[in-house]
Amino acid sequence: MIFETWTPEETREIGKQLGENAEPGQIYLLDGDLGVGKTVFVQGVAEGLGIRGPVNSPTFTILQVYEDGRIPFYHFDVYRIADIDEMDEIGYEDYFFGGGVCFIEWAELIEEILPADCIQIRIEKELKKGFDYRRITIDK
Ligand code: ADP
Ligand code: MG
Repeated sequence: MIFETWTPEETREIGKQLGENAEPGQIYLLDGDLGVGKTVFVQGVAEGLGIRGPVNSPTFTILQVYEDGRIPFYHFDVYRIADIDEMDEIGYEDYFFGGGVCFIEWAELIEEILPADCIQIRIEKELKKGFDYRRITIDK
């Protein structure tokens, strides 16, 4: 599935719809360059899950847990991970194989521990279509 957006609000809206339909046990991998809109997308997902609190990239913690929505929401941002052991230290398996939904920004950095059946989301710019244009590709 491919979506095209021209504003952050549109990207957020696609995330929101996905959040409304997300199911326990799903793991979403979110890749794309810095500043492309991964966190904007995740903020929409959180809204769709009914989470009220502010959602920002958990830059210094790898993982942020939100439990006030329809199902638990586990937001990883592994951009600053230096060693895969850091994932063991936070007990990632409890989240990957728990009863919530996982979103992992920069998932490509922890490829070796990802289960096979994740849903991949890639966000890309294409500057010739404008500075705010984004292409969002979702693959099962
Ligand atoms: P990332 O998490 O991928 O590093 P962010 O979501 O934090 O990126 O930031 C994306 C930035 O791009 C925001 O400042 C946002 O306003 C801007 N932006 C511009 N156009 C779009 C768009 N179409 N979709 C998403 N973000 C956009
Ligand atoms: Mg981010």
